[in-house]
Amino acid sequence: MALYRLSCSLLDNQKNLENMILALDPEARFVTEDHSSALNTRTGAFVEIEVNLEEQDAGFLIEGVWREAGTGTVSVQFSDHEIAQETYGPVERRLRKKELVRRAVLQLFTKRTGQTTPWGILTGVRPVKVYHYLRDAGFSPDEATARLQSHYCLDSDKAGILAEIGEIQRPYFSALPGKIGLYIGIPFCPTRCEYCSFAAYPLNSHGHLLPGFLEALQYEVYELGKACRSLGLEAEFIYIGGGTPTVLNQEELRVLLSSINNSFPASGEREFTVEAGRPETLDREKIRLLKEMKVNRVSVNPQTMKEQTLKLIGRKHTIAQVLETVALVREVGIPCLNMDLIMGLPGENVQDWNYTLAGIKELAPENLTLHTLAPKRAAAWNFQEVRVKTSEHLLAEWLRWSIQELKTSGYRPYYLYRQRRILANQENIGYCKPGTENIYNILMMEERRTILGLGGGAITKWVDPQTLQVERIPNPKCPATYRGRIKELVEEKVRRLRVYVN
Ligand code: SF4
Repeated sequence: MALYRLSCSLLDNQKNLENMILALDPEARFVTEDHSSALNTRTGAFVEIEVNLEEQDAGFLIEGVWREAGTGTVSVQFSDHEIAQETYGPVERRLRKKELVRRAVLQLFTKRTGQTTPWGILTGVRPVKVYHYLRDAGFSPDEATARLQSHYCLDSDKAGILAEIGEIQRPYFSALPGKIGLYIGIPFCPTRCEYCSFAAYPLNSHGHLLPGFLEALQYEVYELGKACRSLGLEAEFIYIGGGTPTVLNQEELRVLLSSINNSFPASGEREFTVEAGRPETLDREKIRLLKEMKVNRVSVNPQTMKEQTLKLIGRKHTIAQVLETVALVREVGIPCLNMDLIMGLPGENVQDWNYTLAGIKELAPENLTLHTLAPKRAAAWNFQEVRVKTSEHLLAEWLRWSIQELKTSGYRPYYLYRQRRILANQENIGYCKPGTENIYNILMMEERRTILGLGGGAITKWVDPQTLQVERIPNPKCPATYRGRIKELVEEKVRRLRVYVN
């Protein structure tokens, strides 16, 4: 584990530097000025990275230095004059300076260690946004792709997939007056999976909180529905996630779905998704109820098709249950099925992954979300002890191969996001059969539409349609806190809705 001490002539830039270093060295730790002299005397072992930006000839000269006891000094230097162009306003200028700092760090790493990263200097969760930023600025798809490689230092595969996804997404961006999105969070699950870092309260230990939570949620659905109707707003799409929403029993689910449909009536057919997540929470009656309530998309997530791995990751269901649930979804006739998989699960090798992918392809879901494992600190597992069998290099190869394999099978990538601590610095990709894109996934990820978040841990995103500035306001994750604050949360959302339409 390497220790780093960072300094930069740009103020407020510590996090920016840290994020870039973490993308290259996920185990990195950072020392502050105060601690460094003590550490240096005790261990003599930290890397000092210094980046300076100097204004010069209407542009910037960027210099980076890497100092490490016993190995000497490495330095890089480059300039940027594009920043002086009039097209750059103060916001873009500030962003660009941060990008230049990250570029200096990347160059230092590459020069000192030979290391690079497929995502170049992009360290955020939503890299497709950068492609859209370039397209909105007037660059053609080819020019935008070239800039992703030259300025943002992406490798050609990542630049290519961003362009492919970006072009699929753009037709969905046109503003629809009077429309709003809806996300409803049910933060309960049958049990907690070992790798989970979401707000997911196991029913066996937290079931006593469910009735109060549902009561508060009913209130929020009713009041926000009333406000939207009076303001002439219609829910363009609805997504119920969690947690595992289908952990609710038949009656609880019926009451909730009827109240959503009554409070947010639709003028025509609309996208309505329910995450079933754990297959053991669905049976024929529940799937029929979903259909009756106009749900037209469900997610059944095996994560792997290996029985042994399911046990290891604490999923508490079998592969037979996955197959049975998928068959029921088909039989009842929910038109769009999504399935989630995780690549790089502990104990799995390339044969296991091939087996899983082949099994899923036979089930032919319309949507398929391929995650790369992100060992999060909030998970029950201690990832130092749970061994991931695959080398990072191999994992990147699997992903490249899987993308080709899925394309050959008629899928195309349509949304993408990244997570902190994701293995091999890769990404999560949503695939679909053409024409079955989930609009919620696109607009939520790219933050192009205001989405009201109701329920536990749901985040409301207020998007300014002109500037695309986003304000995120979360509901509490804890069901008891959510219930306790429900009146205040609803009042604030109704107040903002009135501002939003005016
Ligand atoms: S089903 Fe999903 S949300 Fe629930 S515990 Fe497992 S990973 Fe977490």
